[in-house]
Amino acid sequence: MRILIVEDEKKVAAFIKKGLEEETYAVDIASDGEEGLHLGEQNPYDLIILDLMLPKINGLDILSRLRSQKIDTPILLLTAKDSVDDKVEGLNQGADDYLTKPFAFSELLARIRVLLRRGKAETKTTLEIADLTLDLVSHKVNRGNEEIELTGKEYSLLEYFMRNQEKVLTRTMIAEHVWDYNFDTFTNVIDVYVNHLRKKIDKNFPAKLLHTLRGVGYVMKV
Ligand code: CA
Repeated sequence: MRILIVEDEKKVAAFIKKGLEEETYAVDIASDGEEGLHLGEQNPYDLIILDLMLPKINGLDILSRLRSQKIDTPILLLTAKDSVDDKVEGLNQGADDYLTKPFAFSELLARIRVLLRRGKAETKTTLEIADLTLDLVSHKVNRGNEEIELTGKEYSLLEYFMRNQEKVLTRTMIAEHVWDYNFDTFTNVIDVYVNHLRKKIDKNFPAKLLHTLRGVGYVMKV
């Protein structure tokens, strides 16, 4: 899952990015409102963390401009302690949640997990397909009774596949949701990671879940 942080306080942005990357999210940072709006319009983020007080374009304007373009990415606002009006205005304009600064990273993470599953049938913290399960909190992956050890990137790739079962996922889609904007699309990195992942989740099991569609991409299905 790929997250955009729009936050001009460099320390806050770096703190959130580091924590989220440790949780295997791909993270981009925009350090002013103009860059934030541009990135939010150009990339299909799974979630946007949006500070309200920003240089160039403020958070509420970014919010309303994204929503007016029918970009319905979940948006979590970061607000200052005493700005009740901004919170109400933000929620009215289509923000999904807000968090008051300063906040504990664990609370941010819990809210992100809720927002990422909003609108999906899944209400628990586990993703499943056949006998493969992925625990979104502990990051444990099991196939049958066997626990599968994955690297951070393999885990986020698997999470993306499991959230999009039976959908054909192109390399571009995978790059956009699993890697950040430093990703070099002219490499075969995605295929390499998919092959690593497949070895771990499919190789020793008769029923294959991760399928290649030659010239198109990949699909996870029973
Ligand atoms: Ca700010």
